[in-house]
Amino acid sequence: MDTLIREARQCAICTNVTTYTCVHPRVPEGDLDLDHRPYALSIVALPYWVQQCGTCRYCAADVRLAPATARDVVKSTAYLAFLNDVGYPFLAREYLAAAHLCRMTTQYAAAGWHALRAAWKCEDMSHPMAGYCRTQATEAFSMALQHGDAATPAPYEVALILADLQRRSGDAAQALAHAADAETAAGTDAQRQWVTQLRSAVATGTRTRLARALTR
Ligand SMILES: [Zn+2]
Repeated sequence: MDTLIREARQCAICTNVTTYTCVHPRVPEGDLDLDHRPYALSIVALPYWVQQCGTCRYCAADVRLAPATARDVVKSTAYLAFLNDVGYPFLAREYLAAAHLCRMTTQYAAAGWHALRAAWKCEDMSHPMAGYCRTQATEAFSMALQHGDAATPAPYEVALILADLQRRSGDAAQALAHAADAETAAGTDAQRQWVTQLRSAVATGTRTRLARALTR
């Protein structure tokens, strides 16, 4: 499970120092859902997988790190629009802002994870913008594949994540298309069994989380 530790961190953009609750992830001991959402105590860490500088409003997994062009992005109208949009839960705004910045700096896989976590927050609140966040995650992971982002998860895992995002959004056709990709990329019987589980969930029309371990 993850460890939470309070740490002072200096913003890479404005040099402001803020104390954050930081996540020190370990190898997951519990279950992961098909889109990699952890269970048990790791869920408690969801608010801390993104940090926002209180001075320049830079949002990132770690404010000590920033690509060269991030300074311009945090001042942009589009970036601030995500942070200021009261139509989303506060935490989802931070994740969506971080996702936007990552997209603008070609960190597509990182953008996918941020958007996915925004979706988890909205789903926890039964918030209607969960679907938008899932769409953002889908687009970001798809771009990560297209651009060969080195941080992209393995093809099987991306396909399964995309399939599960589409399933929870109610798009059975797209979910099954990604499930076929996952089956092609699967390398073990356990992985193929998860594709079968996913297809079964699509067939029954369930849009809830499968809440089962992903065995890799
Ligand atoms: Zn800052």
